[in-house]
Amino acid sequence: GHVDNPYTGARGYVNADWATKARADGGAAIAGASTGVWIDRIAAINGTSSARGIRAHLDDALAQKNAGTGPLTIQFVVYNLPNRDCSALASNGELKISENGLERYKTEYIDPIATILGDPKYSSLRIVTIIEIDSLPNLVTNTNLAACAEAKSSGAYVQGVQYALNKLHAISNVYTYIDAGHHGWLGWDSNFGPSADLFASTVRGTTAGFASVDGFITNTANYSALVEPYFTINTTVNGQSVRQSKWVDWNYYVDEQSYAQAFRNKLVSLGFNSNLGMLIDTSRNGWGGANRPAGASTSTDVNTFVNQSRVDRRIHAGNWCNQSGAGIGERPRATPAPGIDAYVWIKPPGESDGASQVIPNDEGKGFDRMCDPTYTGNDRNGNNPTGALPNSPIAGQWFSAQFRELVANAYPAL
Ligand code: BGC
Repeated sequence: GHVDNPYTGARGYVNADWATKARADGGAAIAGASTGVWIDRIAAINGTSSARGIRAHLDDALAQKNAGTGPLTIQFVVYNLPNRDCSALASNGELKISENGLERYKTEYIDPIATILGDPKYSSLRIVTIIEIDSLPNLVTNTNLAACAEAKSSGAYVQGVQYALNKLHAISNVYTYIDAGHHGWLGWDSNFGPSADLFASTVRGTTAGFASVDGFITNTANYSALVEPYFTINTTVNGQSVRQSKWVDWNYYVDEQSYAQAFRNKLVSLGFNSNLGMLIDTSRNGWGGANRPAGASTSTDVNTFVNQSRVDRRIHAGNWCNQSGAGIGERPRATPAPGIDAYVWIKPPGESDGASQVIPNDEGKGFDRMCDPTYTGNDRNGNNPTGALPNSPIAGQWFSAQFRELVANAYPAL
């Protein structure tokens, strides 16, 4: 059966591989949390020497389900489009559009995934799929970059997402959530409306149309604060809107929850089901610890007010790699707020966002200087320092120093 919200009344699958690393690095208090399983290359489907494959996780999920009572939800991230991560380098993948990548994506990646997820053996599990992080948003904002321009002109991202939705929606115990960036990316009207339009036109082109999507996810693997407790988008300081501050920079949102709820409303207005549910990745957006403000600033200068009041301590909201000072966020839970299906941990805390220097690898991962703490930025982060932690391994690998900091700065505290 297919319920409205797969998180309601369900336990979450615990990935024992992640839990072991978390426990070893001081994270015993969170080792029982459910984290996303990333299918980040073709080899990840059947497993590699360093990671178990999909069936191994599903078998384990069945065992965990049968060891308790009630439903169990397991989350997979579908992340292997050709020209993946087209606006950055850290998570480039193995497939290229110019090398028959879309066809390979369909036949060597999506088809075998759908075959496994559709195995009746697993029909009692609620299988959540997170579809292609950052892909469609990159078509809206980053087509000035060659790899994104090609992703758009070739139709590969749109057709790849449609193909994935068609295959996954056809399995009744599989749930589909599409990535909708985060407020610090799409929160301006010039990005928000066009993104919603692109999501709608993409989904209208699937066999089942709007019915093929259960919801959207925001903040995946990002650091945007869930809620800024000390100001809203309507706060004014000495007659000036916080929108005029350097930090907010005319955005229409100051945090993820307000953004996710507004995005949901916009999508429903374009024809998506009225029971559309949002997920928010809260794995690393806690921003606790000593540098967390204890209250609103009393400054009458709008920039000073916002900088002293905001719990998101990043240098710039466009910074995305291994952010210094970040903490574990809200623990995963169902229906935390109107329109939100769940807070989830899709990015497993402790897994790197990218290497801080060139590290040769066989996954297609590049070196993005946004992961280099000495880099002074590009136009997507307002030419600011990156705020990245030093000495990080390639994206997806365990980054012990980051994990320890995330635990120390957890909010709510552990
Ligand atoms: C990496 C993936 C990894 C995922 C989860 C991404 O940034 O590119 O390879 O599986 O993060 O850590």
